[in-house]
Amino acid sequence: MTTAELTGAEEISWDLSDLYESADDGRLDADVEEAEQAAAAFRERYHGKVAELDAAGLAEAIAERERIESIFARTIYYAHLWFATDMADAPRGALLARLTETGAALDTQLLFFGLELADLDDERAEALLADEALARWRHWLRTVRKFRPYLLSEPEEKIVTEKSVSGVSAWGRLYEELLGALRVQLDGDEVSLEEAMAKLYAADRDERRRASEAVTDALEPGLRTRAYVFNTIVLDKSVDDRLRGYATWISSRNLRNDTTDEAVQALIDAAVGRYDVVQRYYRLKAKLLGLDRLSFYDRMAPIGEDPTKVSWGEARDIVLGAYNDFSPDTGAIVERFFAERWIDAPVRENKRTGAFCATTVPGVHPYVLMNFTGDRRSILTLAHELGHGLHGSLAMPLGLFNAETPLTTAETASVFGEALTFKRLLALEDDPQRRLNLLASRIEDSIATVFRQICMNRFEDAVHTERREQGELSPERLQELWLETQSAMFGDAVDAEGYGTWWSYIPHFLSTPGYVYAYAYGFLFALSIFRRYELEGDAMVEPYLEVLRSGGSKAPEELARIVGLDLADPAIWDEGIDALAAELDEAEALATEIGLG
Ligand SMILES: [Zn+2]
Repeated sequence: MTTAELTGAEEISWDLSDLYESADDGRLDADVEEAEQAAAAFRERYHGKVAELDAAGLAEAIAERERIESIFARTIYYAHLWFATDMADAPRGALLARLTETGAALDTQLLFFGLELADLDDERAEALLADEALARWRHWLRTVRKFRPYLLSEPEEKIVTEKSVSGVSAWGRLYEELLGALRVQLDGDEVSLEEAMAKLYAADRDERRRASEAVTDALEPGLRTRAYVFNTIVLDKSVDDRLRGYATWISSRNLRNDTTDEAVQALIDAAVGRYDVVQRYYRLKAKLLGLDRLSFYDRMAPIGEDPTKVSWGEARDIVLGAYNDFSPDTGAIVERFFAERWIDAPVRENKRTGAFCATTVPGVHPYVLMNFTGDRRSILTLAHELGHGLHGSLAMPLGLFNAETPLTTAETASVFGEALTFKRLLALEDDPQRRLNLLASRIEDSIATVFRQICMNRFEDAVHTERREQGELSPERLQELWLETQSAMFGDAVDAEGYGTWWSYIPHFLSTPGYVYAYAYGFLFALSIFRRYELEGDAMVEPYLEVLRSGGSKAPEELARIVGLDLADPAIWDEGIDALAAELDEAEALATEIGLG
């Protein structure tokens, strides 16, 4: 946006003085020093002695470990937040760099604690865990120890780690370099893959088609090499999983995400069973764009750009209204973010792009950063980040270790808050065309977060399974598997001609195998709770807040039980998809109403 378009967000800057008055605040250096001294004392006292501690002694040690972490976290959060609003300012960069180094040194010094905890033999650990003195740390301790059954002997682990630098990490880096070197010949220019991909959002169909053809051409050279690198990384994972004894290719990822193979399978079954939702939407989108059928390159095409801008004040009122309607207590917490300057809102030069919520440390409060442009997307972004803020505010009394959530539940409150706000936004809009546009962009976000990720997980699953059972996969076979798994989702609603090699530009497949489903998991977990709230009303408020107050002190399965959901049951994931399908029903009805359907 240009500076002429004022939104009212220009003056909305955060006040970091709840962390420190300034970078020169003497308390900052005092805290760094305190953390360093406490870490040294901690090492002196506990190194090599963790196995000798009784339950009370261990509880004391964990509490001290957490205290050290909290002291240091306050300093590094300050550095990150201060830096984020002006990344070109040298003193800010210098403080962040200095504290990042200090943090790494502290980690190194304290690493032994986790290792010695993981090393406790099972019988001893169970006896300790049964002791009430350790009740507060049960989940945390189990989390620290959960990889224990899959660890190799110490010399083996050492070899694996050292050899990975010239092995799997080197292959990963090679792939990144190959991708980075790709150049796309587009309309007489040579552009990066990213620039070419951005054209898929163009309003002009011909521009999208040219961009997609240029990308397909650019992905052709070196495809055999990239397929080989992919094969090698997949093979490396299968060797690692076999040696460690993981049941399936995805098991280690599930463990890291604090969930079970059963829950993830139920999620996948539910999403795959509802691919019709995607097909219905893409058929509707074809109509809205005046096409017989979408091509894969039309999926991101804009529909009905909405020029209406909202002011910061309007956005605040909509979001606050949504949270207040849900529960006055929730509204009161969210209100504080505005009243007490916990938000940095304007678009500013050298500010970090995008949006985030930093939960900081117990005794302080979360901070929210965003770049408010005044479009409707910005309202939902604000609602999203304030959801994280609410979650952090409610969970932080548990302390740093118990408040921290795994990827699978980290998005619960943000997705829920976005859903609440979306409903309000929709209720405020009477114009059918604009209602339809709102719904369409919402459904597209959901499809990208849920179905597209599950569909990519199906491709990964096919590749990892086939590599294990039948050996190396040719580029042609990878293309077949990619098109098979994509077409399962597209049905006859999307033409995938030309899409066959596009698996090869997605870095997640190589850098973090199995990663993609977590987006769908977190999103549908939150939407399933939201659906229950829609059906049962206020009775769901308290259980939902209890989930947020529990932070990461319980596994997702346990959290789900608080709101009456069993994550191993595909029907539960279906409830989240029902919430999406209800939005699609309404979009279809609106399209018919305005003569487009
Ligand atoms: Zn988020």
